[in-house]
Amino acid sequence: MDIASTPSNPSGNPEMADAAFEPHDPATIFRKNYTPPSWLVPEIRLDFDLGLELTRCVATLTVRRNPDGDGDQTLHLCGDNLAVMRLLVDGAEAEGWSMSGSNLLLPLPGASHVVTIETQLHPATNSQLMGLYASGGMLCTQCEAEGFRRITFFPDRPDVLSKYTVRMEGDAATFPVLLSNGNLVETGKGEAGRHWALWDDPWPKPSYLFALVAGQLVANRDTFTTMSGRKVDLAVWVREGDLERTGHAMRSLIASMKWDEEVFGREYDLDQFNIVAVSDFNMGAMENKGLNIFNTRYVLADPETATDGDYDGVEGVVGHEYFHNWSGNRVTCRDWFQLSLKEGFTVLRDQMFSADMGSEPVKRIEDVRILRAAQFPEDSGPLAHPIRPDSYQEISNFYTATVYNKGAEVIRMMHTLAGPERFRKGTDLYFDRHDGEAATCEDFIRAMEDGAGLDLAQFRLWYEQAGTPKVLMRSEFDQSKGAVTLHFEQKVPATPGQPVKKPMPIPLKVALFDRDSARHGGERLLVIDKDKASFTFDGFARPPAISVNRGFTAPIQLEAESHDDDLIFLAAHDDDAFARYEALQQLVTRELLGAIEHGPDEARRGAIVDAVGAVLADPGIDDLMRGELLMLPTITFLLELAAPADPVALHRTRERLKAHIGTRLRAPLIALHDRASAIPYGLDAAARGARKVKTQALVLLAAADPKEAAARAEAQYRAATNMTDRQGALMVLAGIDSPARSELLADFHARFAGNALVIDKWFGLQAGSLDPKVLDTVEALARHPDFTIKNPNRVRSLYMTMAGNIAAFHDESGRGYRMIADLVLALDPINAQTAARFIPALGRWRKIEPGRAALMRAELERIAAAPDLSKDTREQVSKSLDG
Ligand code: ZN
Repeated sequence: MDIASTPSNPSGNPEMADAAFEPHDPATIFRKNYTPPSWLVPEIRLDFDLGLELTRCVATLTVRRNPDGDGDQTLHLCGDNLAVMRLLVDGAEAEGWSMSGSNLLLPLPGASHVVTIETQLHPATNSQLMGLYASGGMLCTQCEAEGFRRITFFPDRPDVLSKYTVRMEGDAATFPVLLSNGNLVETGKGEAGRHWALWDDPWPKPSYLFALVAGQLVANRDTFTTMSGRKVDLAVWVREGDLERTGHAMRSLIASMKWDEEVFGREYDLDQFNIVAVSDFNMGAMENKGLNIFNTRYVLADPETATDGDYDGVEGVVGHEYFHNWSGNRVTCRDWFQLSLKEGFTVLRDQMFSADMGSEPVKRIEDVRILRAAQFPEDSGPLAHPIRPDSYQEISNFYTATVYNKGAEVIRMMHTLAGPERFRKGTDLYFDRHDGEAATCEDFIRAMEDGAGLDLAQFRLWYEQAGTPKVLMRSEFDQSKGAVTLHFEQKVPATPGQPVKKPMPIPLKVALFDRDSARHGGERLLVIDKDKASFTFDGFARPPAISVNRGFTAPIQLEAESHDDDLIFLAAHDDDAFARYEALQQLVTRELLGAIEHGPDEARRGAIVDAVGAVLADPGIDDLMRGELLMLPTITFLLELAAPADPVALHRTRERLKAHIGTRLRAPLIALHDRASAIPYGLDAAARGARKVKTQALVLLAAADPKEAAARAEAQYRAATNMTDRQGALMVLAGIDSPARSELLADFHARFAGNALVIDKWFGLQAGSLDPKVLDTVEALARHPDFTIKNPNRVRSLYMTMAGNIAAFHDESGRGYRMIADLVLALDPINAQTAARFIPALGRWRKIEPGRAALMRAELERIAAAPDLSKDTREQVSKSLDG
């Protein structure tokens, strides 16, 4: 089929001359080669005879030639790992069909037909967790992006929308609960203890939104009455023992439904909404129409087993998947290059939702921290791609921080430029204009232009160009005129395939502070849309302190020529909470990058200690914000500025600064820990904030005086009534050599034996610890009876955590790199999608000093040399080596 295949000789295609940089791999798919489908499937009926070992699927497709298609007589149906058991056209044995690789080609004479296809599926041995698979004795599906073709032959592309009717039948004892998309129409009993259910989804949808679940599940039920007064039955389905941990997910769902009505005017459109929690899952969750399927870690939460961070994760992901009902499902994507159309927009929506549910500035700081730690490195590395990519080999590799998080930032900039009311007019127009359609990013931009009244001609570059723009700022003060001029210069760095960039429109919120009064004359929005731009402001007797990119209005790297005094001033006085946080981060960043070159700067360290001291003492800062302000910039972020660098040296420098702060501020940190420890458990902001600062205080104290901190951590662990305190204490303790460490790790394991999500934490606490022996520990944990390579959560908790543990992963011996490469090789045949996600860690070798970089490369070469690598891993490895 057209989007699933590419010209056999790409270099023979004249259009590709300008794309000579593309890997000349026949498997590369290009955005510019999109053509509409030749055939449409307005309706599909699926009949499942369910079994864990063997499931039979009969698909009945009503196919109609697309009047806007190319007139191809042949119906191209994607398949993956499927055999044709039976194929009928209009009720008679099909003739003249053939297989092209794993796809089915069926020549059809007329303009419409009914095609019946029978396939056999083996869910119990489906370790890829794509298509129909078994998890913990139940059956479930994952079809995004291209999993439906592992269930039946189908034009598995998001611009083919069909009405689904699903009948599922199976043993009533094995599968008491039978769920699919839409509304339950009918149920009945069959012979020999069997039963069935018939589901009907009235909303046409692409195949990636199909889902079914069958198994022994129990429901937390509630209802929601929509803005137009329709009552919706809600259910969160889990394994029997997990029911008491579903309250937060249900509350989050109800809050999401209400919020989307209030903020975006979006109402739910079915009589039922089901969420199912599954313990084997490749990603966070999936927005299947009316039947969201979740990784258990984003559903289950109670105070004893989930941290405050986990609670936020549940709320955010429940919101995210629910919001997809409009941004993704009612309006879907034309092709997978448009992925950010639904993901970037939906991430923005979930960020806005979480901000409204909690603290807006704290949420903004968290989101920017994620962007800097995950997206900036991607955008400056071999896997950099625009939020709307131009080509891919395996689409699963493009569910990235760039498409999701930078995609959200890009739409957030439209929100900033338009303001909330006009932005809402833009989204209203978008939903209205494209309801029921498979749309493009261009459609979204146009709706924003028409609805919000924005001119986004140049703004489209944010969709086209990869790379984090660098903005240099310098100020000039003219004493005689009392005028300050801000000079900006933007540089969009070269990225693979995009050596030369055009200047982009960069919206920056700016405020100029009078240093004596600590006030400014109002915030302004500047848009830098050329290589260089200058703006003059007058009315200043003295040079003001300049606060730029307030609220992080643009996803850029700002390099401001400023004095430490400016940062110190802003850290103390900026009225934009984000800017205040940012000033302190900048000051610390400056100190760390300087210290690695020529040792600590005593004056600056003193200023940092004073600023942190002020943060500890300021009653005007709530504890949730205080906790953010106490966190130092991540090594991944620092590596973006220092590269190529020795990450371990950077890490040690950072630890030394923590020790310095912890030593100088010992008394107030202890006072803070004591004060926070006295606040009883609650889910309110004050109690949550107390738990956050409690652990942050411990972290700083531990760097300064490990022995004293170990005693405090042990006390915190033993007194803990909740997972936040317990995990925080153990996190600190896991990095300190003391008898309590092994004792409490063993206690933790025994206390939560059998709770998979908490055992994941137990693995993660050890793999992420500051213990110098962590690689030995990881090796031993890989042989622990609780470890299994088949479960993505478990694999991530051990190995992703280790790959993010700077001192461990970057161990000079190269052992950390080797362990990750070994994992990739072992995991690739089992779960290619999850295996490929480990490649970017090794692919970051250009940011690392030459000795380690060579070791990282050697591991990538070793992976590349393996025969039969998956498409997923192959693409990431080859791009990481030569991208
Ligand atoms: Zn999403």
